[in-house]
Amino acid sequence: MKDCHGHAAHGGGSGRRQFLQRVVLGGGVSLLAASPWGGAVASGGKVDALLLSCMDYRLIDDIERYMAGRGMKNCYDHVILAGASLGAITDKFPAWNKTFWEHLDIAIKLHGIHTVMIMDHRDCGAYKVILGPDHTESAEREHATHRSQLARLRTLILERQPALKVETLLMGLDGRVEVVA
Ligand SMILES: [Zn+2]
Repeated sequence: MKDCHGHAAHGGGSGRRQFLQRVVLGGGVSLLAASPWGGAVASGGKVDALLLSCMDYRLIDDIERYMAGRGMKNCYDHVILAGASLGAITDKFPAWNKTFWEHLDIAIKLHGIHTVMIMDHRDCGAYKVILGPDHTESAEREHATHRSQLARLRTLILERQPALKVETLLMGLDGRVEVVA
């Protein structure tokens, strides 16, 4: 049994599972009560990345498969917001923005993440609702729209957390992922 950094883990299960067990048993609760996140750092384990993806049911398995292909199966934090990058920055849903930044903060403090992976996808319903349907009139325009939102969020992340690495990704409905520069 290995944890997310290849070290031998104590007992069975993943680091995350062990952490949850501690919380259930009560040890973690007092740590969390004493210090909202700092106390939990020692028992929460470490992962390298936080993934932000859309909620679209069609691609959940493809996302898991992609992460497994990157060697990160069960080794990443995952925030899901409709629209992914757009959900984190749209002024139409300010509560979603706040949710993203708070989760990023917690992922850093709790699990010491170094990388944020932002995974948009094509034919995104949230993009159509928030920006209107026109941007999908051509594959090129759709790509450009995602590229600009991904870049906006990357810039905002790096302004707040300059030490992080940010990956900007776009998944097709076939599950293929391209890196969007
Ligand atoms: Zn979507």
